[in-house]
Formats: sequence, structure tokens, C-alpha cells
Amino acid sequence: MDQKRILVIEDEKPIAEILKYGFEKEGFEVDCAHSGSSGLVQAEEFEPNLVLLDWMLPDIAGVDVCRMLTERYNIPIIMLTARGNVEDKLYGLESGADDYITKPFDLREVVARVRTILRRFDRVQGIREEKEVVKDGLFVSEQEHMVYRDGEPVELTPKEYDLLIYFMKHPRQVFTRMVLLEQIWGYDYMGDTRTVDIHIQRLRRKTGLGEKLVTVFGVGYKYVP
Ligand code: CA
Repeated sequence: MDQKRILVIEDEKPIAEILKYGFEKEGFEVDCAHSGSSGLVQAEEFEPNLVLLDWMLPDIAGVDVCRMLTERYNIPIIMLTARGNVEDKLYGLESGADDYITKPFDLREVVARVRTILRRFDRVQGIREEKEVVKDGLFVSEQEHMVYRDGEPVELTPKEYDLLIYFMKHPRQVFTRMVLLEQIWGYDYMGDTRTVDIHIQRLRRKTGLGEKLVTVFGVGYKYVP
């Protein structure tokens, strides 16, 4: 397994050092930044798997650093703070933090929380790779040959399924009915192009994609995610 990288953004150097020491001892690679701005730069260069982020930084508020990091990267963030205020905690979590640790902390507890979050994150990433997210609540698992809408399986005929996958793999590309017939039904299919229209209508309704399966008048259809 790859060595996981942790970026510590903490202006109090003794605390940053304790974290660095503790995580390196546990086999992590650790980089420290002592301000919000340097933290953002180091996040770009170091490509951490997780960020430990102090709430009170000298230049940019930790909560703003958190927001900037979550806008740019898909990595878990744990906020560190001396405050025990519940409102701050909620504010921190709303800004995109995955967890919250109050100072003074027990190093072993921080390590345990980090491991838990990284495990959870890896698992979610695994699911994402397996199932392609189309829109809120719609997952397609090619491995299972199944489509889920809001967690419930969508009953699709094999051709409806093939059509959906075809559109998803070619977003924003316009296909004529003839091309879709050839691609999904095969060259020797004897039916007419209305077959495509009927299948598109059913797909729109069953998947909830609706008008994301766009009719391009005089041409055909395209999928706009
Ligand atoms: Ca601080």
C-alpha cells in the first residue's frame, strides 16, 4: 500500500511538530505549513491524502482555507481547534471539513480518527469508480449491469440499459436515430427509428433524467449531464 501523505496546516509549531512526529512514527509521510497561504501552496505540491487544518491561522481563517481546499481537491479535512464551541463545529463541518478535533488532543486519538476517515474515504472512492454518478441519486454499475435511482434499482430492458450507457459514455454528442439503431440494435435490425423514440421516452421517465436526454430537432438525441 502506498504511504499516505498528511499535510498539517498549523501555525503553532510545537503542535505541528508533535503531529509530524506522531504520524511519521505511524508510517505516514507528513508535511507542515504554518500559515493558510503556505498551506494552500503545499497542498498543490505535496498532494496530501488528508489535511489536518488548524482553525486559527495568522493569515487566512482555517474555515476559509477549508473551503478553498474542498473547492479544489477531493480530499478529507480534519479541523483542529482550541474552541469547543458547538456553533464553530457546525460551521466547520458546513465548510466541508470531514471531522473535528479539539485541542488539546490525544495523539493516538488523532491517528485513529485519521485512519478511520482515510478508510471511509477509500471505500467511497472505490464505489465511485465502480458506479458512475450521472446526477443526484442516479448510479450506474456496469459491473452489476444495474442502474439505481435514489438507491432503488431501476427496471430497464437490456436495450434501454445499453442506450443509457451509450449516452453516458458520449456526453453532449448528438446521435441520429439511425446511428443509435445501428449501435444499440445492430445493423441487421429490421425495426424503424420510432423504436429509438420509444426507448428514449421510457429512459427519460424511468431514470428521471427527463430532458437531460435532449431531443435535437431534425437530427436525433444527445445526453447533457
Ligand atoms: Ca493556531
